[in-house]
Amino acid sequence: MPKRIIEDFTGVKKEIKCIGCAITEAGKNVSGYIIETDLFHAHQDYENPISGFVVLSTKRHIKSFDEFTDEEAAEFIALVRKIRKAQREVLGIEYVYFIQEEDTEDHFHMWFLPRYEWMNDVEKFGRKVSSARPVLQFAKTHMKTPENIVSVKEAAEKLRNYFDNLPSIDGRR
Ligand SMILES: [Zn+2]
Repeated sequence: MPKRIIEDFTGVKKEIKCIGCAITEAGKNVSGYIIETDLFHAHQDYENPISGFVVLSTKRHIKSFDEFTDEEAAEFIALVRKIRKAQREVLGIEYVYFIQEEDTEDHFHMWFLPRYEWMNDVEKFGRKVSSARPVLQFAKTHMKTPENIVSVKEAAEKLRNYFDNLPSIDGRR
């Protein structure tokens, strides 16, 4: 896999071969860390400064649901439900778009993209799911302000605290 330069949500550029491996290796030290189990890692989206935008990824290099082991399948749905609940209860996120692209060099990952009011600007971004890319591009280009970066980090911290105070999902904690 070739190396590529990616810019994180705070504006720091890094050269990375596989973002999934880099995040797995960094574990709890990832900026925007939320929760980790033996099989999965959840964190604030690496590149887009949108509060509460969670990415849940497998630690294994797989691309699709049909490659999940039974253990991964069970843990995945438990994590999806808990993360969505945390977005709602801790951050007040009413709607989320779930996106999972199989045609990626990265590990399997699911995007929990909050649907904020400002994203409903049809003229600017397009309608519903077709607005997802333009919204992300807008966030990358215009939302890396110091105030917004602080609020994105705070949102991730709140989600992390929520999970720190929950009973363990995989029996490790
Ligand atoms: Zn990898």
